[in-house]
Amino acid sequence: MQESRPFEVVLIGGGISGLASSYYLEQLAASKNIPMHLTLLETSGRLGGKIATERLGRVIIEGGPDSFFTQKPFALDLCREIGLSSELDEADPTTRGTYILNNGKPVKLPEGTETGMPSKLRPFMSTDLISFPGKMRALYDFVAPRKKSAGDESVGSFIARRLGGEFLFKIVEPMYAGIYAGDVYQLSAESTIPSLVALERNYRSIIHGMRSEIRKRSGQNREKRPGEAPKFITLKGGMIGIVEGLRSKLRQTDIVLNEGATGIFNQPKDNSRKYLITTSQGRKIAADSVVLAVPAYAAAELIKELSPGLSRLLSEIKYSSTATVTLGFPKDGTALKLHGHGILVPRTEKGMVTGCTWESSKWPDHSTEDILLARCYIGWFGHDEFMAYDDASLVKEARIFLENTFGIMEPPVLSRVFRWPMALPQYMVGHQGLVRRIESENRSLPGLFLTGSAYHGVGVPDCIHDAKSAAEALVNYLSVDRLS
Ligand SMILES: Cc1cc2nc3c(=O)[nH]c(=O)nc-3n(C[C@H](O)[C@H](O)[C@H](O)COP(=O)(O)OP(=O)(O)OC[C@H]3O[C@@H](n4cnc5c(N)ncnc54)[C@H](O)[C@@H]3O)c2cc1C
Repeated sequence: MQESRPFEVVLIGGGISGLASSYYLEQLAASKNIPMHLTLLETSGRLGGKIATERLGRVIIEGGPDSFFTQKPFALDLCREIGLSSELDEADPTTRGTYILNNGKPVKLPEGTETGMPSKLRPFMSTDLISFPGKMRALYDFVAPRKKSAGDESVGSFIARRLGGEFLFKIVEPMYAGIYAGDVYQLSAESTIPSLVALERNYRSIIHGMRSEIRKRSGQNREKRPGEAPKFITLKGGMIGIVEGLRSKLRQTDIVLNEGATGIFNQPKDNSRKYLITTSQGRKIAADSVVLAVPAYAAAELIKELSPGLSRLLSEIKYSSTATVTLGFPKDGTALKLHGHGILVPRTEKGMVTGCTWESSKWPDHSTEDILLARCYIGWFGHDEFMAYDDASLVKEARIFLENTFGIMEPPVLSRVFRWPMALPQYMVGHQGLVRRIESENRSLPGLFLTGSAYHGVGVPDCIHDAKSAAEALVNYLSVDRLS
């Protein structure tokens, strides 16, 4: 029995995945009375990873995520649990709506298609975005047969098969370019649109299936949780509030900034701790257990000697780079009256910008009354030439887009560029099989746990959920070790 010394756990990576893992580990260790000391190593000088909020007086600029969606409740639950309920801020429902660029003109996304399919038929039939033959092709879904072969396919092939090419390229492709900066003909349907794949399996027609599910859900919601429809939520002071909130709750964790892990090794058999972590400051830290909360390619590098097989599998997960360019314009001088929360840009429209959010319409309290904040997204999978551009050139690209699309000619009063090299994991066709192989190989490294956006979902709620699962698995592992 190892009652006297606390277990040493090293967490690598101080993004939301590493911080949430620390938080859940501390909670679980306390509730199970397991003595535990944690060290969280973060290579950069700040916590948050992709969550990067800059506060310029009353103006809040998000470099990475600007919100989380509550359909998966894990981020919302965590915020409430750590006392951030009063800080939560819902995207302004009065200005809601998304536009799609269509032949150079913004056209409103028909109501009900936000799910990636026409779940409301009247708005869909009256939109100018899709031609009449395109609409008829989408409605063919009602009678189209199920896919015959089992196994994964691309999002592109799934949507083209069910709803046709026009719906795919005008509506679905720009959405997935926005979320993954990805190529719909490479992204896995099983991993990125599992709910649509399940609809085909269960109902054959995905439109009919979705409409039935919505009717069922709205009945249940009325009975059980009135007012709890999924929403986009941020924090009053920006997304970094979750990071600050988590940090303030950590009691047993030494947070070490500016010190990255450089390798993970097995300790000699006679050593009581299992792993040795080397760091960029030349330290060697012994640990009973390790949580790798870094991108898959960084994890692959750290374990390349410890487990060349797992390292190879991890490096199969590809990433795309992206950049966000936030521009502030004087509201008085800007001719345009903006509607909706933003616009998505299909690949067929050319240009570098893949989308733009009106941050000041979405979150009015994140700007002043006289500044209009626009955030443009740049880059998609296989096209990261823009990473070589300097900030001024990226600002120029964003301005050209805003001028051509919305006629905004005024010079911005503020601009901020964030670059994210290899930022968004691409769940390619076969991703779930790859993750299963990674998990199987990982079993030969007891006490070492992988978590983060590379495996079971890229959104902040997914990362929090995955972190909680990793913490539970780690505590189970230590509980067994403690009894042996
Ligand atoms: C531009 C952009 C917009 C997004 N928008 C949204 C959104 O609106 N909503 C949403 O839900 N999600 C969004 N996402 C996705 C979401 O932000 C990320 O998936 C999530 O934040 C990833 O968190 P993570 O902790 O797993 O990884 P990261 O945030 O990448 O954190 C990993 C950390 O590990 C550190 N690290 C790396 N190597 C080492 C090492 N060797 N030693 C120590 N530390 C190391 C890094 O410095 C980093 O801090 C967006 C992502 C981007 C890039």
